[in-house]
Amino acid sequence: MDWELPVIALRNQVVLPRTLENVDVGRPKSKRALEEAQSADNRVLLVVQREARIDDPGASDLYDVGTLCVVKQVIRLPDDTLQVLVEGRERVKIDAYLEGPSLRAEVTTLEETAEEEGTNGDLASLVEQTKSAFQEYAQQNKNLRLDSFHLENLRGLKEAGPLADVIAKYATWDVADKQSVLEEAAVPQRLELVYGFLSRDLERFDTEKQLSARVKQQMDANQREYFLREQMKAIQKELGNDETDEIEALKTRIEEKDLPEAAKDRALKEVDRLEKMPNGSPEATVVRTYLDTILDLPWSEMDEETLDVSHTAEVLDADHYALEEPKERILEFLAVRQLAKNAEDAQYKAPILCLVGPPGVGKTSLGASIARSMGRAFVRMSLGGVRDEAEIRGHRRTYIGSMPGRILQGMKTAGTINPVFLLDEIDKMTADFRGDPSSALLEVLDPEQNDTFADHYLEIPYDLSKVMFITTANSLSTIPRPLLDRMEVIQIPGYTLHEKLEIATRYRVPRQVRDHGLTDKLDLTQDALRRIVTEYTREAGVRNLDRLIAKVARKSARRYLDEAWDGTRDVDDAMVRDLLGVPPYRDERAETEPHVGLTHGLAWTSVGGVTLDIEAVSVPGKGKVALTGQLGEVMKESAHAAIAYLRNHASEYHLPEGFHETRDLHVHVLEGATPKDGPSAGIAIATAVVSALTGRAVRGDVAMTGEITLRGRVLAIGGVKEKLLAAHQAGIQDVLLPEDNRANLEDVPEAVLQDLNVTFVSTFREVLEVMLVPGGETAFPPPASEDAVERPGASA
Ligand code: ADP
Repeated sequence: MDWELPVIALRNQVVLPRTLENVDVGRPKSKRALEEAQSADNRVLLVVQREARIDDPGASDLYDVGTLCVVKQVIRLPDDTLQVLVEGRERVKIDAYLEGPSLRAEVTTLEETAEEEGTNGDLASLVEQTKSAFQEYAQQNKNLRLDSFHLENLRGLKEAGPLADVIAKYATWDVADKQSVLEEAAVPQRLELVYGFLSRDLERFDTEKQLSARVKQQMDANQREYFLREQMKAIQKELGNDETDEIEALKTRIEEKDLPEAAKDRALKEVDRLEKMPNGSPEATVVRTYLDTILDLPWSEMDEETLDVSHTAEVLDADHYALEEPKERILEFLAVRQLAKNAEDAQYKAPILCLVGPPGVGKTSLGASIARSMGRAFVRMSLGGVRDEAEIRGHRRTYIGSMPGRILQGMKTAGTINPVFLLDEIDKMTADFRGDPSSALLEVLDPEQNDTFADHYLEIPYDLSKVMFITTANSLSTIPRPLLDRMEVIQIPGYTLHEKLEIATRYRVPRQVRDHGLTDKLDLTQDALRRIVTEYTREAGVRNLDRLIAKVARKSARRYLDEAWDGTRDVDDAMVRDLLGVPPYRDERAETEPHVGLTHGLAWTSVGGVTLDIEAVSVPGKGKVALTGQLGEVMKESAHAAIAYLRNHASEYHLPEGFHETRDLHVHVLEGATPKDGPSAGIAIATAVVSALTGRAVRGDVAMTGEITLRGRVLAIGGVKEKLLAAHQAGIQDVLLPEDNRANLEDVPEAVLQDLNVTFVSTFREVLEVMLVPGGETAFPPPASEDAVERPGASA
């Protein structure tokens, strides 16, 4: 059926059938159309413009499908537009537009196709799906505000057509979408279309939600971190360690310190790394420690050096009594150094001074005096027990808790690049699987290499070439050969009783008295000191002596508080007994009576010379030989050599026939707790064995030293001076020495030699002639011919 209707063009609003809608009408043509409708049967056609911005749309600007509506109410608004309430009735197809004062159109009804004929057989379920989709849509769409009344209404709809239309009314779709719903006459297809739009939107909401969740999360994380950082900064500021301040301070320190180029670059790089690290991280601590190490080390700081040998001589003399020869050698060493330096002779490789001697003879204090006299800093480092290369050279920084090696730690303590550096106990260093520390030390001491010393921790070359190294050792035997070759050895043998008394009187007593606050209140008599040296100490140096003087001072200080005596109290030998208690070495001089199977040997240990008592017993048995008293391999072998010699000459010395099969021998060297070694006890062991086997007594007032050969010759030994000092201190006057050691007497102080009666021997027969106490069968046959042909100089 064809009929004609007035037309109102809508810019962006689609009115759907079965819905109420408010429409604003302002344009004159539209107003006229409205008037026409009102003057007829209130029916009007609402059609949407294809483009909203066109003011006076013609036929081609309008869609071909519109909605036949009934005007329900018209309200005139203050600006003269009309608000019209319309009710959609049905879809119509526009066959033609008729232009006139108002717009009119010829239309036909667009028949809706019945539901049964739809393509989708299961329309009911689509209805349900669409309803719940819309429910979801309404919930998620923030631009859609529907009250529960509308939703309830919608849920009540059972028919597909109206449902699709109502949803299209509410949905916030654009005009084109809504128009397409309007144009769809077939109900099932229309619902599908609506459902499709809903699904599309739901999907979009979902993506948007995810996206916004992700954005939010990201923002949250950023914000959280920012917040925490700000908070941390505030806390740190409160604690006074502001990170930025620290970085700046480090940079200034690096700039101000006179660092070599390589070290400076490295330090600045580390500061950059530090800046990027979170403040509290363990990495940051490592970097900080490393930077501190660089900044604490001296790189250019240097003491002005006074190389004046005569001044050094004065200082050495002022600090040390006696030690004539070591002092002389030190001065010579310095003189050569000075001359070579002045000549700028690049070829001269100054050797390293090595002071060798027992503990407490003043090695360390000589080193300190050298430093003082030259106006240089002094550092001391003990190598005792160092067995790992890393202790010298440091650990790589990858190790937890790694540190620079001891050399650099010493340099840090010194604070200058030209200290006197004393390496103590270089002979106590050992090598094992962790690497040989002595090879690292060689590099330290080598002037050709030590200007670029490589510490594993520091990783930057460090210049040690201005350092004056001095080493000390108790004995030379365990110093690795390559090290020894680099060193100029100065022996300090140990002091005589007289020297000890002088050192005590001049240096140690005044010092200890002063340190204990007893100046003018206490002194020690010579008798007291003599008693301390002879009865309370047994040492080559003066370390224990010093300790005991300190003990006397300490105990006296205590008494002074109780008694408060006037003037100076002189501690005499009786008071020493009182203060120090029972002396440990009282019996030292006792055994001078002749005994069977007991002799006094002389040995040279790392603590100086000592007397060694050697005992031998012989009992019936099967020829077993026991050697006890912690003897080293060399000493054992020397004992076996002595016994072998005696077996071979049994009849000559009137030893029991076949004693090596019928008697057991036991040789014991006293003071079993101290390990002993070396061949020099040979003749003392042989003498004790002869005495034990023959039952004849040997003299107790004689001490002896000498190696014995299988043929009975007596060979030279080392440490003559120390051994004679030991005999002297033990109160022994008669000493047997190998003939070949005659020249060594030059080293022995005159005061000692005056008290001693030295006999030189070259064969064991001569030893026995001195040792056997007269009264027994002393007559030995003349020397056998083989002794006579023995090569002289075999001892060399
Ligand atoms: P070392 O390093 O050889 O073990 P030290 O140098 O530590 O011995 O000496 C121990 C103590 O004895 C120091 O206080 C030192 O001053 C003192 N001393 C050693 N020899 C002498 C000496 N000849 N004159 C004065 N004091 C000495």
